[in-house]
Amino acid sequence: MTTIQNYIDGAMVAPVSGDYLDNYEPATGQVYSRIPDSDERDVAAAVAATARAFPEWSTWGEQRRYECLMRVAELIAERREELARAESIDTGKPEKLAYDVDIYRAEANFRFFATAILHFSSESHRMEGQAINYTLRQPIGVVGCISPWNLPLYLFTWKIAPALAAGNCVVAKPSELTPMTAYLLGQICIDAGLPPGVLNIVHGLGAKAGQAIVAHPLTKAISFTGGTATGRQLAATAAPMFKKLSLELGGKNPVLVFADCDMEQALQTTLRSSFSNNGQICLCGSRVYVERSIYTEFRDELVRRTSQLVVGDPAQPETNQGALVSAAHLDKVSGYLQLAREEGGKILTGGERVLLPGRLEGGYYIRPAIVEGLPLQCRTNQEEIFGPVITLQPFDTDEEALALANGTDYGLAATVWTQHLSRAQRLAEHLQFGIVWINCWMLRDLRTPFGGVKHSGVGREGGVEALRFFTEPKNVCVKWGL
Ligand code: NDP
Repeated sequence: MTTIQNYIDGAMVAPVSGDYLDNYEPATGQVYSRIPDSDERDVAAAVAATARAFPEWSTWGEQRRYECLMRVAELIAERREELARAESIDTGKPEKLAYDVDIYRAEANFRFFATAILHFSSESHRMEGQAINYTLRQPIGVVGCISPWNLPLYLFTWKIAPALAAGNCVVAKPSELTPMTAYLLGQICIDAGLPPGVLNIVHGLGAKAGQAIVAHPLTKAISFTGGTATGRQLAATAAPMFKKLSLELGGKNPVLVFADCDMEQALQTTLRSSFSNNGQICLCGSRVYVERSIYTEFRDELVRRTSQLVVGDPAQPETNQGALVSAAHLDKVSGYLQLAREEGGKILTGGERVLLPGRLEGGYYIRPAIVEGLPLQCRTNQEEIFGPVITLQPFDTDEEALALANGTDYGLAATVWTQHLSRAQRLAEHLQFGIVWINCWMLRDLRTPFGGVKHSGVGREGGVEALRFFTEPKNVCVKWGL
């Protein structure tokens, strides 16, 4: 059984308390590794290490930082298979998905931000005849990066890479449920020659280790991805300390399917946008609204394809749906299906627990579900389920579709299927979301701003937005000489 250690000051170290937590394999329901149950003493050691490392790292210059971060990317690429297997075992997601999406993207995150820092520039403002202002963008110092369990290495590196590229030192915490690839990343950083203390990875519980990172007076900025309720808690700690905050939170994303869409494309992609990674992606569409004239045809075909998805061993290439991440999450998703029934919904397919034989018999498997007949205002349509459950509803007009789409507290991502250019543009203008996809889903350009509005978050990540977040702008005003 692997015993995961914290990565602090360039070395793998045990938690100060000596206490460990069990880490479960979702595919089997069995404990397969142990992770440090870190507390504020481990966080204090990590912050002290960053404080020692910062003066040198921040003055290395972009080119040297680029070279170092590219070495990390190369080592991720070299170890892609091992990392994909580890991610799959830790999360329950299909190994193929982890390989094609998660690990590929973790590598891309390092490559992208290593390169982006070479192109990063700041503004100048000329006051005619009087002065020139120029903006320095300096690293903040010590920053905290806290990420969730659904895309563990993908989202962890999405924060860490820009923070390091911009010259900061980082104290990071992965989710306690999925610590393994973050642990392996620590080993990769040692192999890549990242100087000690530049990145520190502290494992443990959110309310203990995570909270200690947010509350530490020397962490000047916090980049957080996770649930809206946790984001609120974090903000309550960080805001009175005047920390910079980037919050990427939950979603309840709509998919609008118009009668003039390319039906086959809309069906194929809606199947993916509903159930990829078991619906455990913040960008998954969970409320699907279909124009009435094609509603029955679209519904029946989506139900047919959903019922054919293979729920099974994440290690097997034919598996579409692996296990949910934890027993607690399986209970949560099952609870929402029960709620959907109580609220008057009809389950068209799925929702049953799947019991697999042999070593998989204790795994957290469930069939992907489609629910029909629920109004917008019910809890099933308002609250984030974050699992393989979608609701379907017909609409008659563009205005109704827009009102349905905008009708929750969330505002992360919306998808629109139509061949009508001006309808697509009009909707994109009025959809209250940080991201709108037209005739596609999860097509990601890392240069674009990423994030949500309303209860889906504050601030943007991606491209220059991330580099701006992880730097402090300082205006310098130089008066012209006489
Ligand atoms: P949580 O909010 O439960 O946890 C996220 C991270 O925060 C974990 O590392 C967690 O640690 C930690 N944490 C928990 N409490 C605290 C605290 N008080 N102080 C500091 N850190 C804390 O989210 P989940 O892990 O359950 O992830 C699912 C959620 O993430 C969904 O709501 C999803 O929508 C959202 N998400 C948003 C994305 C976006 O880009 N907008 C992308 C992906 C997911 P631990 O796990 O150890 O408790």
